[in-house]
Amino acid sequence: MKLATKVLSAALLPFLPFVGSAQTPATPPARKFQGQEPIKGVPTESKPVEKQIKAVFPFESEKVFLSNQFTAARLNAVSKKDDGVYDIHIKPENTPVNASPWYAFKVWSGNDKPVRFSFSYAGNVRHRYEPKVSKDRKHWQQLEAQTVNGIKLYEVKPGSDTLWIAAQELTTSSDVANWVSQLEKKKQVKSFSIGKSTLGKPIQAFSFGNSQSKNYLLVLGRQHPPEVTGHKALTAFVESLLSEGKDVSSFRKDFQIIVLPLLNPDGVDEGFWRHNAGGVDLNRDWSSFNQPETRAVRDYLKKEITEGEKLLAAIDFHSTHDDIYYTVTPEKKGNVPGLITNWLTQLTEKIPGYSPHIKPLYFEPPTYTSFSYLFETYGAESVVFEIGDSTDESFIQKKGKASAEALTQLLNEFIAK
Ligand SMILES: [Zn+2]
Repeated sequence: MKLATKVLSAALLPFLPFVGSAQTPATPPARKFQGQEPIKGVPTESKPVEKQIKAVFPFESEKVFLSNQFTAARLNAVSKKDDGVYDIHIKPENTPVNASPWYAFKVWSGNDKPVRFSFSYAGNVRHRYEPKVSKDRKHWQQLEAQTVNGIKLYEVKPGSDTLWIAAQELTTSSDVANWVSQLEKKKQVKSFSIGKSTLGKPIQAFSFGNSQSKNYLLVLGRQHPPEVTGHKALTAFVESLLSEGKDVSSFRKDFQIIVLPLLNPDGVDEGFWRHNAGGVDLNRDWSSFNQPETRAVRDYLKKEITEGEKLLAAIDFHSTHDDIYYTVTPEKKGNVPGLITNWLTQLTEKIPGYSPHIKPLYFEPPTYTSFSYLFETYGAESVVFEIGDSTDESFIQKKGKASAEALTQLLNEFIAK
């Protein structure tokens, strides 16, 4: 029997490539990540958030020091276990909260001994982000875990130089402001602020393209603080829209592009897991508008997009467990029917072997999320562009560029009709 099977498989082998190549499988493999369940409403009136005590956490006898005294830090306590492992205690800003356990701290030591650490999260939330480490806060490397007795341990040798350790690369509101001012120096970008956050920080915005055009594209991001990979996808996408390609150049002649890169500056700078400084998930407040951040966007767009002007499309960048696009159900038609479906189809052609994971997530009001609000209010073809927490940097760049090329081609064709 065994022999017969062997002969059969060998005989079939030469024909296998015709059954389906690796790049275009006849049936795509089943996906592990199913995406999120339909969005439910939650109260979005402001709630208290717990203030994080900023301090140095000293272990004098071992000459090991940890600190959360910097922007976007999160470190609530440290305890030293019998085996010498430093257990990092992390708490969210308030509860209930989505399980995106952000952390960021510095560590240094008065000797060359390795420092081993583990993580404990309030509410038994599971570890989600593998630690990234940096000596200069610019270049980051992921730490590999060793699992001992079911506990993930990480080891660094900080020495007297400070090491930053964070759930994702640190990208604060000043980093975003620097990125915007770099763009402003080189390109025809106009930056401004559309209002203030709960703690009084500016909600940054910029625009480019043809300021006389009646056709708009809106790009928004970072409603949720830890979603740094989504921010990277946003920057890759926007930088491609500002590049010299033929399609993007003619796109800029015919469209106005508005970018709101960081809707939750307080949450980012306070090192929150999910919420704004009002203790609320901003991406559930697009029906009640209880928070200053969502109100600022609503009021700005009302003033900017007036009678006879059209918000053709809107892309909201996020991060989650794996790459996925959340769409408005295709049965609902907006300003450019079929745009999102055609766009995502083009992405499969531009990135060989890539099959986008697409899940309709908006069917009817109320509009708790920004993408559904923009669809219902403006007829904008809306999509949530989610990048995986661990998606490779080069793929994020490739996808950002391909996305910009495909979208501008389709919108150029649309207005040429
Ligand atoms: Zn998000």
